[in-house]
Amino acid sequence: MNSTSTHQEFMNSITAKNIGETEFLQAVHEVSDTLLPFIEENPKYKHNKILERITEPERVIIFRVPWVDDSGIVQINRGYRIEMNSAIGPYKGGLRFHPTVNLSILKFLAFEQVFKNSLTTLPMGGGKGGSDFDPKGKSDQEVMRFCQSFMTELFRHISHLTDVPAGDIGVGGREIGYLFGQYKRLKNEFTGVLTGKGIEYGGSLIRPEATGYGNVYFAHEMLKTKNESFKDKIVLISGSGNVAQFAAEKVTELGGKVVTLSDSTGYIYDPEGIDREKLEYIMYLKNIKRGRIKEYADKYDVKYVDGKRPWLEKGDIALPCATQNEINEEEAKILVNNGCICVSEGANMPSTPEAINIFLNHKILFGPGKAANAGGVAVSGLEMTQNAIKMNWSREEVDAKLKTIMTDIHNTCIKYGKEADGFVNYLKGSNIGGFVKVADAMIAQGVV
Ligand code: NDP
Repeated sequence: MNSTSTHQEFMNSITAKNIGETEFLQAVHEVSDTLLPFIEENPKYKHNKILERITEPERVIIFRVPWVDDSGIVQINRGYRIEMNSAIGPYKGGLRFHPTVNLSILKFLAFEQVFKNSLTTLPMGGGKGGSDFDPKGKSDQEVMRFCQSFMTELFRHISHLTDVPAGDIGVGGREIGYLFGQYKRLKNEFTGVLTGKGIEYGGSLIRPEATGYGNVYFAHEMLKTKNESFKDKIVLISGSGNVAQFAAEKVTELGGKVVTLSDSTGYIYDPEGIDREKLEYIMYLKNIKRGRIKEYADKYDVKYVDGKRPWLEKGDIALPCATQNEINEEEAKILVNNGCICVSEGANMPSTPEAINIFLNHKILFGPGKAANAGGVAVSGLEMTQNAIKMNWSREEVDAKLKTIMTDIHNTCIKYGKEADGFVNYLKGSNIGGFVKVADAMIAQGVV
């Protein structure tokens, strides 16, 4: 049987077991497509059914999250934790609070997380969790009550030794603080059970910056292979949250010009570039005022495009930093036709499979999320180490370690993804590079 029909057969069985889980099936399809030929060449993975086991979560926890809003009305949300794989360390991965959250989205994120965490070289398994709760438009008191209720169930399933959640969309420093406070109260212990904590109570310097900075470090490594850099490049960034903000900061520092940012309602285009001062305004707008990106266009008198994404604009480099499936085939074609040479994914699975094909067929530099955005979880791993040894490292120390990790991930992608003509298929490289360590650990631990 050839590898295409083996792949189809495998996907048929996965689809039958995970009916309607579109995003999870999309992620499994993308990974298994590149892994199957490698597994055929290495029969130990086939005999041990690693692909079948790695696509089945070790544990899925779903729970009710009741809370009372400011007008005294009872609200009910659904909470989740997907404990996907613990072969190389405790489950590790963020919590997402967003109305679109469902089992499929969290399973795709947890599945990706397994490979990403392995690529960092740190001892972390993969997990993900969250809720369909929408922090947007809620008061601080409402967010606190929700977080306390969420943790009142989650606390019995996690610990610094078994499962260590962090932030993701809708879960930033404020939410982690409330979650940590409730965990500490319920368990009566002060441990590093969450990462992304405030610096006053066990957080790591550079953790807020890590995903955005790491993505730019990864893109920088990719550009170097073509004797290119960020200097004087026009950069399109989507999103305006944690990852987008710090990606923009680092691009500017390296001499690039960021001309777009977005949120779920539209994007802004600033041809002069979003410099340090304007970025400070974005940080105030998004992190303190919690306003909409359109307000930037009103303040600086630049273009705002409602209901669209930044990929319609001309840019040398694209950093999608908002959410999954935010670059479709059409937008990928526009990017390539406009001369884009590099796409580095700050978000998880932001490019659709059709968009990825466009990037690969045109042989542009394409850094998939599991490699390019691994900086966030890498520094979470460093936060766990600092908590365990009860020490704090300086900004410079953590940043240097982050840079080294991103360079190492880039090297792993080259090792497993370089093709005969010299083109580096980072998708293949990251999938195989992330898989090998987890798969070997699973074999060593027997059928568990
Ligand atoms: P934030 O909540 O801080 O910001 C998310 C940004 O994306 C906001 O601008 C938001 O706009 C926008 N966005 C969210 N959902 C949608 C949507 N459905 N359509 C359009 N825009 C949307 O999240 P992060 O910056 O932390 O996360 C961004 C991405 O990076 C996610 O894919 C996440 O999984 C990934 N990631 C994050 C890591 C981290 O350390 N935080 C680590 C690795 C990956 P709005 O405010 O209007 O909702």
